[in-house]
Order: sequence, then C-alpha cells, then structure tokens
Amino acid sequence: MKYKKMHLGIYQTNGYIVYDETTFEAAVIDPAGDFEELVRFLDENKLKTKYIILTHGHGDHIGAVPKLKKYTDAPICIHEGDAYMLNGSMIKNFLTSGIVGIGMHADKHLSDNEILELGSTKLRIIHTPGHTKGSICISCEDQLFAGDTLFAASIGRTDFEYGSYEDIINSIKTKLLLLPDDTMVHPGHGSETTIGLEKRRNPFLR
Ligand SMILES: [Zn+2]
Ligand SMILES: [Zn+2]
Repeated sequence: MKYKKMHLGIYQTNGYIVYDETTFEAAVIDPAGDFEELVRFLDENKLKTKYIILTHGHGDHIGAVPKLKKYTDAPICIHEGDAYMLNGSMIKNFLTSGIVGIGMHADKHLSDNEILELGSTKLRIIHTPGHTKGSICISCEDQLFAGDTLFAASIGRTDFEYGSYEDIINSIKTKLLLLPDDTMVHPGHGSETTIGLEKRRNPFLR
C-alpha cells in the first residue's frame, strides 16, 4: 500500500489517495477540492480510482466529489448517517459559495468494520460517530485516516448539527485507541500524529 497526502480546497483540507502498487487500484479519501491536482496525480501514476470515500459529509471535505465522480465513475462511499449531507442541505450553511454540486448522492453506504479492497490492500471502515453521526475513520495496515475525529493534540468539533461530545470521546477511546501505538494517524486537518502520542498527550482523552 502507498498513499499520497494533498492539501485541497479553500480550507486546505487533507485529502489522501491510497493505492495498491500491484494493481494500481486507488481510493480517494476526502477529495475536498483542487480536482485538477487530484487527477494529475492519479493519471501520472496510472491509478484506477475504485472508490471515492468520504470520512463525513461536511462541505470542506467534498468539494471535488462531483467532478471526480464524473471523471472516474467510481462509487461515492459514505456512512449512511451522513449521506443526507450530500444533497446540499447542510452544505449551504457550511460553505460560502457553490464549490459543491447540488443533488449528489451516495452510491454506497459504508458500515462499521466493512472491508474495501484495492488489490490485496484492505481498507477497514471504523464508524466513529461524534463529529457527525456518520463520521468514519479508515484503517489500512499501520495507517489510520481519521477525518475530523482525531487530530494532533485535539479532537473534532462537536458543535455542528448532530455532533456529540460524548459520542466522539467514546468513539476515540473504544475504537481508535485500541489500535497499535505506532499507528500513524492522518487527520482531515493539520499534521500527522500517532495513536501512542495521542494516548499520552491529548488533553481531551485523559
Ligand atoms: Zn468536519
Ligand atoms: Zn473538516
């Protein structure tokens, strides 16, 4: 498995392209914007996009989804709890202007512990409600793509619609902190961290 981190869209959200070096099958996680940049990387590396995976439905994570969907025809995958956000109801108050297509819909609803395969590379979906009802993290080998659930020394906001502080703490403690300490965590914003480091220093997880 290989991955590429990109800073995408007006919020410079972290998007990731995860791919299998043998089959060149790829998953694009949170294509938040900058469609051309994403496609350049996919094409230069001869990657075949098999999945578009959204860690949650917030507007700052989905800006390039309509164009990427059109270009790759890959299924848009999101947890059922956030699928409604793709229709635009929440996007309007989350973003200033129309960088998101109206009327997008999920092609596939993800569930907890579901496995998506890229060749022999396995992506495991972990449902981590709290930041939103349908937030997920994606575990692959010793890497975790954490969306807006766990950040370096912080956690995702819970003051948006359907956010829950209790749920996010519970999700992190009962699901993410069970991963090995050397698991590299790639959040939706800011820099990387590890599970072990967050166990020791994250003020929200004491
Ligand atoms: Zn968010
Ligand atoms: Zn975000």
